[in-house]
Amino acid sequence: MTTPDPDDPALPTPVQTDPVPTNPALTATVDLDAIAHNVSVVRAASGADVIAVVKADGYGHGAVPVARAALEAGATELGVAVIGEALALRAAGLDAPITAWLHTNDDDFGGAIAAGVDLAVSSRRQLGRVLDAARALGTTATISVKVDTGLNRSGVAADEWSDFAADLAAAVAEEAVTVRAMMCHLARGDEPEHPLNSEQARRLDTARADLVRRGAGPEVMHLANSPAALTRPDLARDLVRPGIAIYGGVPIPGRDFGLIPAMTLSGEVALVKRLPAGQGVSYSHTWVSERDTMIAVVPAGYADGVPRTASGRLRVRIGDRDFPQIGRICMDQIVIDLGADGGGVREGDRAELFGTGLTGGPTAQEWAETVGTIDYEILSRIGGRTARTYVRSGHTADAPQVPDPVGEPQVGERR
Ligand SMILES: *Cc1c(COP(=O)(O)O)cnc(C)c1O
Repeated sequence: MTTPDPDDPALPTPVQTDPVPTNPALTATVDLDAIAHNVSVVRAASGADVIAVVKADGYGHGAVPVARAALEAGATELGVAVIGEALALRAAGLDAPITAWLHTNDDDFGGAIAAGVDLAVSSRRQLGRVLDAARALGTTATISVKVDTGLNRSGVAADEWSDFAADLAAAVAEEAVTVRAMMCHLARGDEPEHPLNSEQARRLDTARADLVRRGAGPEVMHLANSPAALTRPDLARDLVRPGIAIYGGVPIPGRDFGLIPAMTLSGEVALVKRLPAGQGVSYSHTWVSERDTMIAVVPAGYADGVPRTASGRLRVRIGDRDFPQIGRICMDQIVIDLGADGGGVREGDRAELFGTGLTGGPTAQEWAETVGTIDYEILSRIGGRTARTYVRSGHTADAPQVPDPVGEPQVGERR
């Protein structure tokens, strides 16, 4: 068993490491070439321009480096949930169009407008507050109209539509706002053939026709999330809004789109020791050794995003071997069973918790299936003390050549 040598030229060169990770022994390595490859896959499948969704700190991958890599790979815009996320991207120097679509009463609409953030509005109240903020700044705000076409979450509700449209037409007439886009979000995008997908698109088209009739038509439309972008090019309109696909996650379980998981989570083996037969391991001794064995401790726990409900059900890859995780997953550490011969594992070896799966190792999707969730949740919870490192693996043979994007370390961009 050998520990990878960081100076080995065969390994991808880190192009950025966040400066002071709290637990440098636990690493989320993010392959920016995988991000670029995945953007290319979505562009090819949808035939549309891409709004790379980098909310929730880029689904746990780091919003700023992911945004840069996605834009360099041909994405044209960025999407986030809340204004603070958009302002953080602006503060990092990203000047691409950014849309933020989730707002509460005290949000700084003026700050967002001043920073050139496109606010997607979901109600007359929000539109009114955008207008107030734009007037106070003496400027024209660029907005998107988020229409509730059936998800029944955000978006202008059907029973408010005609009043909203009248307000918007008046605001456009007085040049207080420019309508950049109309958008909606699919309820069943991961069931490509479900009739609701086409129905939601039809409702968005109808709302658009209404705004056009009132002289307040949008420049562009978008509704497709990752699964729809990959399977329903007919829904793409002008742009698609993929999130999970960009990260190489699993938009539709069981379907292979040739995406590459961008994040590999690995920890350094902290301790290797002998365990006699009949001994319980970790809290409550839920696992008891049946034979003399060797165990190892890896410094990753539920505070780092390893789901405690997966206790005793994960596998960890060291070198080319899988070892079972045993006993309770703790806040900071897990224990793995190396077997009677210790499997050749030594302290300091790298233990892969999940990664690309390209050589059969565990994946975030496998964790998700183990605990009954989706990889979105697994990935977006990776953080805490984890050190993020960005590499360029060269995975993008079939993708456009992109320049090395991250010349200098970006201090303070982890949030
Ligand atoms: C999160 C989100 C997306 C991206 O969804 P994926 O399923 O990750 O592709 C797109 N649009 C909106 C409004 C979202 O909230």
